[in-house]
Amino acid sequence: LKVTVTEVPVPVAYGPAFEGERVRKDDVYLECGGGKTPCFELVKIADMDAVEDGKVTVIGPDIKDVEPGSVLPLGVVVEVAGRKMQEDYEPILERQIHHLVNYAQGVMHIGQRDIAWYRISKSAVEKGFTLEHIGKIIHAKFHQDFGAIFDKCQVTLYTEEDKVRELLKEAQQRYKIRDERIEGMTDETTEIFYSCTLCQSFAPTHVCVVSPERTGLCGAYNWLDCKASYEINPTGPNQPVPKGEVLDPVLGNFKGVNEFVEKASRGAIKSYNFYSVVHDPMTTCGCCECIAAVLPLCNGVMTVNREYTGMTPCGMKFTTLAGTIGGGQVTPGFVGHSKYNITQRKFIAGDGGIKRLVWMPKMLKEEIRERLIKRGEEIGIPNFIDMIATEEQGVTEEEILPFLKEVGHPALSMPPILGEAMPEAA
Ligand code: SF4
Ligand code: ZN
Repeated sequence: LKVTVTEVPVPVAYGPAFEGERVRKDDVYLECGGGKTPCFELVKIADMDAVEDGKVTVIGPDIKDVEPGSVLPLGVVVEVAGRKMQEDYEPILERQIHHLVNYAQGVMHIGQRDIAWYRISKSAVEKGFTLEHIGKIIHAKFHQDFGAIFDKCQVTLYTEEDKVRELLKEAQQRYKIRDERIEGMTDETTEIFYSCTLCQSFAPTHVCVVSPERTGLCGAYNWLDCKASYEINPTGPNQPVPKGEVLDPVLGNFKGVNEFVEKASRGAIKSYNFYSVVHDPMTTCGCCECIAAVLPLCNGVMTVNREYTGMTPCGMKFTTLAGTIGGGQVTPGFVGHSKYNITQRKFIAGDGGIKRLVWMPKMLKEEIRERLIKRGEEIGIPNFIDMIATEEQGVTEEEILPFLKEVGHPALSMPPILGEAMPEAA
């Protein structure tokens, strides 16, 4: 039996017109995530008989139980079942939550995975909006847009801190497994990359082109995910992009990609490079997990993740950086990227590769520690991880430079970062 849901059962107006709408601090009734509380989203495949279609459960306090201006932890777990459903589709469905929730008037959603951020406005709550409606939206819209690949869907929203933290660990484990599926692939071994234009409603000229070694900057879509998404929805936001002629193998410039980007950005962007932050980097939108920036004095590059709220050596905090470069333009010297991308072999390879990395927040270093160590071994500097400065050494270029000298950071003996492009010295 196929379920068809035509209406989205929420007490507020609903549609793409509300997607870009912000909910300002003073108008917030309830906030989840955004660095204030743990918050994550997970779509997972389940057995047919374990899922009751349309069931939405809120475990823990809901909106009616809290005062205006409150914060709550939130875990949104969506279980999907069906004969055609595959594990490969989980990330594709999961990434839709962002715009589907945003369609509700008075509800703001930013990010994905474990950096999701919800703001529900006082006016939405006045109209009767509760957390349950987030589940109703997901259920209704998943059926509408992806009914062909699954039969049943149920949503559970958790708001108790302990439970959210426990489930968050499980979710992070699943994100990791998804990320690592791409591990063995290289950009050279495929003629086809995939576009992603999901974020154009916020950043109209933004076009992600996702290659095996350049995961989407939101961290939620890698090449395999885009490929699966195209298979499900051939006219959707993920289109195959033939690389075409390789115009610059070092910076990662491809004729076919440029042609696609020019069209998809309606003429705004004519060319960008996959492997550079210095020279015409890719466009950046507001949901990037990290932002890399050139540090000329240190002859290197720093990167900062969204969750780190402190100052950085480029003189800007993450929020300022995202606000400045996240509108879908090409900004030489700055580029958004995923956490996973840091340890992918093509990470800023055209600027000298990961050996240029001189600063990152301690929390990010810890999060990707295992892979960073592996990558250090791969480039022949097993203790490379310890050469990268963090806020413990300083948050200005002047503060971290003595440390970099002391540990003999490789960036200091590389050609000038703002000079010619250079191949990664392996
Ligand atoms: Fe797609 Fe890029 Fe937006 Fe991620 S950041 S959803 S890959 S357009
Ligand atoms: Zn985006």
